[in-house]
Amino acid sequence: MSAHYDYLIVGAGLFGAVFAREAAARGKKVLVIDRRDHIAGNVYTEKIEGIQVHTYGAHIFHTNSREVWDYVNSFAVFNRFTNSPVANYRGELYSLPFNMYTFNRMWGVVTPEEAAAKIAEQREAAGITEPRNLEEQAISLVGTDIYEKLIKGYTEKQWGRPCSELPAFIIRRLPVRLTFDNNYFNALYQGIPVGGYTGMVGRMLDAADLPGSIEVRCGVDYLGDRDALAASADRVLYTGAVDEYYGYALGALEYRSVRFETEVLDMPNFQGNAAVNYTDGETPWTRIIEHKWFEFGRDGEGRELPKTVISREYSSEWKPGIEPYYPVNDEKNGKLYAKYRELAEKEAGVIFGGRLGEYRYYDMDQVIAAALLAARGELG
Ligand code: UDP
Repeated sequence: MSAHYDYLIVGAGLFGAVFAREAAARGKKVLVIDRRDHIAGNVYTEKIEGIQVHTYGAHIFHTNSREVWDYVNSFAVFNRFTNSPVANYRGELYSLPFNMYTFNRMWGVVTPEEAAAKIAEQREAAGITEPRNLEEQAISLVGTDIYEKLIKGYTEKQWGRPCSELPAFIIRRLPVRLTFDNNYFNALYQGIPVGGYTGMVGRMLDAADLPGSIEVRCGVDYLGDRDALAASADRVLYTGAVDEYYGYALGALEYRSVRFETEVLDMPNFQGNAAVNYTDGETPWTRIIEHKWFEFGRDGEGRELPKTVISREYSSEWKPGIEPYYPVNDEKNGKLYAKYRELAEKEAGVIFGGRLGEYRYYDMDQVIAAALLAARGELG
């Protein structure tokens, strides 16, 4: 390797791309590598039959941060997509997140007062005062009926663990509302970048208008050639899995992985919504994504599309050789991660960041905020 860089960035996902851009904005010379053959990490989208397909799972951008929203809007135009998944429990359809439509369908209640009373009655019958795990947290938020039909099966499929052994915070990601509002997120700002996330990340990585430079090389595995690659830069930002970086020396952290079965269907409308969650315990997939509805079923010119692309999503435990998606942020893994973090903090010349580098269930906006913060801390 001839050139020398100020920063080597391992991973061309959101954390890496934002950090690269911020470094180049401050005049730095940056090399970004990724072991996949494309940029954008898990937010990568590719066009199939005129439809932007979310290859590594559905990504709906949402944030409360005006700074982060302005930031992403400087790289893409966002459409007005609002996530409102439908839950399919053995053929019964329910609105998500948990709101007055859900409560009406479940119990026939009509007013917020009736819904609140029904939830309180079920919470009291279960005898939960201080929820200690996801099961107790869920029952205390929405009662046993909703827990049994809309949460238990889905969660146990997604995490491969009983709800009684999962941390309560996971279910608090979902709003519970006594209003008729099917918006899955409480965020102030929400949408999908027109033309896909890959284009957005590509524009972040294009430093033509910046004083510094960004070079991107895909298909380069840092851990396979660590010494030579590390020597090519003064500092390294590593966004891969922290335990893999250390060769699992302290033991492997647990992750959940996801497998997608994607199909092109010769019909215009398969399920009438971007996301349908299968919340029973028996259906092997957790959800089906119909990608065209992220862009209202139309192509870039506003034409309706004759075909559709769907992805069935299957969760599994991560093992070496497949992609890690979700950190399992329970107590056991938290303790192990704390030991890796101690090593990471002492690692000379290397910064760790992102969902895998920090073993955190970050959403996209949190990743961007964290990368901006890391860049400020590092570069001023
Ligand atoms: N969840 C559920 N039923 C659903 C959707 C979500 O019980 O129909 C629970 C489940 O425990 C899941 C958590 O809510 O792990 C968070 O869901 P979210 O949609 O935020 O997960 P992600 O989109 O990150 O996969």
